[in-house]
Amino acid sequence: MNRITALRSLLPKGQVSYYKDQLLIVRGDRQFLFDSNGKKYLDFFGGIVTVSVGHCHPKVNDALKAQVDKLWHTTSIYHTEPIYEYAQKLTSKFDDPLKVVFFVNSGSEANDLALALARNYTGRFDVISMRNGYHGMTQTVLGATNLGNWKPTIPHGFNIFKTLNADPYRGIWGGANCRDGPVQVKNRPCDCSPGQCKASDKYVEQFEDMLLHDFSHSSGPAAYLAESIQGVGGTVQYPKGFLERAYKAVQKRGGVAIADEVQTGFGRLGSHFWGFQSQNAKPDIVTMAKGIGNGFPIGAVVTTKEIADPFSKSLYFNTYGGNPLASAVGKAVLEVIEEEKLQDNCAEVGDYFLKQLAALDEPAIGDVRGKGLMIGVELNEADGKPLAPAKSAAIFEETKNRGLLIGKGGIYGNVLRIKPPMCITKKDVDFAVDIIAQSIAKFK
Ligand code: PMP
Repeated sequence: MNRITALRSLLPKGQVSYYKDQLLIVRGDRQFLFDSNGKKYLDFFGGIVTVSVGHCHPKVNDALKAQVDKLWHTTSIYHTEPIYEYAQKLTSKFDDPLKVVFFVNSGSEANDLALALARNYTGRFDVISMRNGYHGMTQTVLGATNLGNWKPTIPHGFNIFKTLNADPYRGIWGGANCRDGPVQVKNRPCDCSPGQCKASDKYVEQFEDMLLHDFSHSSGPAAYLAESIQGVGGTVQYPKGFLERAYKAVQKRGGVAIADEVQTGFGRLGSHFWGFQSQNAKPDIVTMAKGIGNGFPIGAVVTTKEIADPFSKSLYFNTYGGNPLASAVGKAVLEVIEEEKLQDNCAEVGDYFLKQLAALDEPAIGDVRGKGLMIGVELNEADGKPLAPAKSAAIFEETKNRGLLIGKGGIYGNVLRIKPPMCITKKDVDFAVDIIAQSIAKFK
């Protein structure tokens, strides 16, 4: 039995596996991965939007190695230099009053803590999240994750209400041309005057309607939790202004807005460092993971003193959160993003990428969307329905065989999710666009 077959029987059966011929990856170098046969792949999924500055980036590796020889661990009951320096650096990326940081170890844990903070602060229990959203897999946040294929039939996250998904492509009100970004599409535009998106109005109306009907007047929701662009759900980008108005509606009722920046943060969107900024939205709590550590397990929750302080009526403890190794890595990642101007690279190369994809003369491509290097390509049958799962799977297998790794997502599994390390070049984009076009043409 080879290693791949042996491992399959040791790991849970439900563990995500894209490929018929599974990969055994042995090495990474910036935007490239190498398998056990020495084959090289251009990695345009970055460990699911996690490898932000590139595999094995020398500066991040050096920071980790130096810390390994100094101090691994003490638990947070003692302060360490790395956590002090990292907390300063990370909070410097936020405007006042978002200046208190809790360190955790994953995105699920960050969202779990964010809900606890919101409930503790407001004295309320109800939470709102959006259909098609993904927020993690602890039993609490599973209640906020609204993608059926990720929900085991076990009790999870009580009192979490779901709102309609502000999806300009498959949603009921259109509005695809009211998304931020370089690509305008013919499908499902809305008939808006400049600065006034009618689809956004409709989604906000239904949101307010829900606030009116589902919560008593005396006690509104504790929190609204949303990704700034939905990731696992298929790079769903809301119409302009939606998030700002949804946050305000909740805040007006005394609830707090939680921005899940696990995929959209750290400059990936190009125009802004945080995804919520691209929607002009002002959250009360921000959760982070994945790209924060370039693959090292780190998570964080940043909030205001007003929300954090009441949580300190009881003690707060997390054995590994902000440990010296994680803090050294996290700080180095932020420095690389600045030094190598990776946010600017996301803006420039992302723009180019989106335009190249939109220019493909391929009828199976129903939608090209995204910002910076957070890109989605939705594939359709000739009648506009989502591409059949078997065809999507064949396309993914083909791109991999041709040396390109990309993700798949959306409730129908028909969206190519492209979220590479932020250091890719236009040459990489040309290589990838060719492979994507050829793979779709072969199997659509
Ligand atoms: N939020 C978002 C937006 C995510 O994409 C994910 C992971 N896919 C999570 C939270 C959960 O993160 P983790 O897997 O680190 O628990």
